[in-house]
Amino acid sequence: MKWERNMRETVLHVAAWPWLKHWMEHQGLKYVVRRFVAGTTLTEALVAVKQLRADGLMVTLDLLGESVEDEETARLACHSIEAMMNHLRQISSDSHISIKLTQLGLIINPALCEQNMHKLLETARTNGQFIRIDMEDSSVTGQTLELFSKLHMIYGPKHIGVVVQSYLYRTPADVETLQQLGASVRIVKGAYSEPPEVAYPEKCDVDLAYFNLVCSLLQSESYTAIATHDRILIANLIRFIAEQDIDRDRFEFQMLYGIATDLQHQLVHEGYRIRIYTPFGTHWYPYFSRRLAERPANLWFVLRHLLPPMNKF
Ligand SMILES: Cc1cc2nc3c(=O)[nH]c(=O)nc-3n(C[C@H](O)[C@H](O)[C@H](O)COP(=O)(O)OP(=O)(O)OC[C@H]3O[C@@H](n4cnc5c(N)ncnc54)[C@H](O)[C@@H]3O)c2cc1C
Repeated sequence: MKWERNMRETVLHVAAWPWLKHWMEHQGLKYVVRRFVAGTTLTEALVAVKQLRADGLMVTLDLLGESVEDEETARLACHSIEAMMNHLRQISSDSHISIKLTQLGLIINPALCEQNMHKLLETARTNGQFIRIDMEDSSVTGQTLELFSKLHMIYGPKHIGVVVQSYLYRTPADVETLQQLGASVRIVKGAYSEPPEVAYPEKCDVDLAYFNLVCSLLQSESYTAIATHDRILIANLIRFIAEQDIDRDRFEFQMLYGIATDLQHQLVHEGYRIRIYTPFGTHWYPYFSRRLAERPANLWFVLRHLLPPMNKF
C-alpha cells in the first residue's frame, strides 16, 4: 500500500537525522530496544543463544555495526567478530554468523574488507562455522555479490552464503548466477529505502517476486534460507514444498529476534528448521530504525515509552 511505503521512507529518513540518533541513544530505551536486540554485550547475547537453542530454534548471531568510516574501526570489528565466533563455538556448534561488509570497511577500503573476510573465513573453517553476508542498500549490492562470489570459490557453501532482496529488479538475474554457483542464499524482501528506478515500489510486487524467487531457489542446488514473517507467503511456500516433495534439509526458515515468536515456535513444532537472526551490541540504532520503519505499530510502542505517563483520574 502506498501509505505504508511512504511511512517506511519517512521513518528511515527521519531516523537518519544525527541529533535524533544521539537523542534516542541517550533516552534509556533499553527495555524497548531489548524487544529486537539480544543485549549490548556478548555475554548477554550468549544467554539469548542458549535460550533459543533450548527452545529448538537455531541461531545466526550478528554483532551490530555498519557503514564504518575508518580503517581502525573496521579492524576492531573484525577482531570482535572473531572473538565472538570462538565463544559461540563453545556453546553452539550449529550457530551461524551474520555480518555486514560495510562494518568490515567495504565503503572506505574494499581491499581491507576482503582481508578481514579472509580472516573471519579462516576462523570459520577452523571452527566448522558458517558466515552469511547480509545485503545492505543498493549502492553496495554489486560489490557485495562480487566479493561473495570470489570468497565462495575459495571457502564453498559450507562456510559462506549471501542474501538477496526480492524488491530489487536485478535480483532474478543475480539468483540465476548464484544458482549456477550452488551458493547458499538467504532471501528477504529488503529493508532499505530504495528509489523506484531500482526496486519495486508496490508491496504486492515485492511479495510476488519473493514467492517466485524462493520457488526457483528451492528447485536448484542452492540451499535456501526463507527469511520472512509473512504468514501468507509461508503458508503458500509450505504448500509448494509439499507439492514438489522438496526435502526439509534443502531449506530453512529464518526470522528476526523478537518478531513473530508464536510463528517461530509453531514451525519448530511442525518439524521445520528455523533459525533466528539474533543481533546484539551497542550500535543498535540503524537496525532498530529499520524494524520501526517496517511496522508503524512499533512506532507507538516506542512513543509509549518516551512520553511521560498520563495522570490517571
Ligand atoms: C532472518 C532475516 C534476515 C534479514 N536480513 C536482511 C538483509 O540482509 N538485508 C535486508 O535488506 N533485509 C533483511 N531482512 C529484513 C527483510 O528485508 C524485511 O525488511 C523484514 O523481514 C520484514 O519483511 P517480512 O518478510 O517479514 O514481510 P512483511 O510483509 O514486511 O511483514 C509480514 C508480517 O511480519 C510482521 N513483521 C514484519 N516486520 C516486523 C517488525 N519490524 N516488527 C514487528 N512485526 C513485523 C508483521 O506481522 C507483518 O505483517 C532480514 C529479515 C530476516 C527475517
